[in-house]
Amino acid sequence: MNQLIQSALQKGDPALSEYKSKQMLKAYGIPVTRETLVQSPGEAAAAAGALGYPVVVKACSPRLMHKSEAGAVAVGIQDEAALLQAYDRITAAVAQPLEGMLIQEMVRGARELVVGLTRDAQFGPCVMLGLGGVLTEVLNDTAFRVAPFDADEALDMMAELRSKKMLDQFRGQAPADRQTLAQALVAVGRMALENEAIAEIDINPLIIDPQGRLMAVDALIVLQPTDRK
Ligand code: ADP
Ligand code: MG
Repeated sequence: MNQLIQSALQKGDPALSEYKSKQMLKAYGIPVTRETLVQSPGEAAAAAGALGYPVVVKACSPRLMHKSEAGAVAVGIQDEAALLQAYDRITAAVAQPLEGMLIQEMVRGARELVVGLTRDAQFGPCVMLGLGGVLTEVLNDTAFRVAPFDADEALDMMAELRSKKMLDQFRGQAPADRQTLAQALVAVGRMALENEAIAEIDINPLIIDPQGRLMAVDALIVLQPTDRK
């Protein structure tokens, strides 16, 4: 069994933290933000300096599944003073033991997608592609496929979106890297097929930057106990 998943299950964690979820994604070839998990304000300042400002600070824990609601996210941190302030504010707001504080690059891009995975009792792992951001629920613009499927099938999912024009050149921003997005959709399906202990995957958002590159900015892998060792 995958190491990250095995140790999480042994600890009784309900999910992989954002940091570990992204390590899984990365292992499956999905681009994720550059980030460092730190344990102190001093380490945070060093990590932010190495990444380059602006950065994003987030509390990281397998038990923090909705971070914004918990006051656990600070975006657009411009300098060290703001970083240390955010570190303290988040620590106080969350008030629980953490895996650490996540210091990550701030990704620019007006276009946000959501990629998800759920297990259907009848069909098995289903991969979802949708529009992200504030309009997700309003527009309800999604495409689904049962895994496994290939990259051509994934390109068809994109073509099914009513808002597919967003993937083309858009307000002066480059077209989205459709091949990488297709590979990511295929990989999410494969991840579920190869790891029975994955109950759900939620990549929200996957940001398309002005150059058309994709980046998973947040990820959550929810676990379920399995019999298999
Ligand atoms: P939540 O657990 O609440 O979903 P997220 O990690 O998704 O937390 O952060 C909330 C929002 O903050 C995201 O939807 C995104 O708009 C923004 N955000 C988070 N991380 C970044 C980042 N690295 N770069 C740019 N925006 C980000
Ligand atoms: Mg999110």
